[in-house]
Amino acid sequence: MRLSTSRRTTGRHRKPSTLATAPRRIAVAAVTAGLATTGIAGGATASAQTFPGLSSTATELVSQTVQGPATTVRPAEGTFTSGYGPRWGTMHSGIDIANTIGTPILAVMNGTVIDSGPASGYGQWIRIKHDDGSVSVYGHMASLYVSVGERVAAGQTIAGMGNLGFSTGSHLHFEIHPDGATPVDPVPWFNARGIYF
Ligand SMILES: [Zn+2]
Repeated sequence: MRLSTSRRTTGRHRKPSTLATAPRRIAVAAVTAGLATTGIAGGATASAQTFPGLSSTATELVSQTVQGPATTVRPAEGTFTSGYGPRWGTMHSGIDIANTIGTPILAVMNGTVIDSGPASGYGQWIRIKHDDGSVSVYGHMASLYVSVGERVAAGQTIAGMGNLGFSTGSHLHFEIHPDGATPVDPVPWFNARGIYF
């Protein structure tokens, strides 16, 4: 959930200057709550020890407020080799990120695995249904580490990069279907969540 659409379009979610009053109030509330918690330990010493923790909690809360409650991560490290759009007389409905065989492929958000295995063109694919109804798709992997029905967390390694299926070198093919069925360009989708390629 976002507090406003204007923040979403800034594309600079991490800059403190873009934080509106509401997130600041939430951060202050978090610090206040944290101070109350430190009171259990009691004394000035406890309060000094817990300041780093308070800072972390406040930062996380602000981050969640700005980016939305669902953490999103980059699906793989590597070289962006192909974008979304028409390609080779067909439609490339995702993006390609190239790296060596076995490079970790990460779930982009929390969700449930709905496919993990062979798929035409993809060699092998994994599809994850996320809590907001969107579906992410990962293709060409050499190794799959998750099974259908398994719950995965954002950032969890789900597979190792590969070169299976319709592929000309080791890379990840990634798609995002925000409505669960229709692919959109993943780049602006990631940009809106503070991830850039
Ligand atoms: Zn691709």
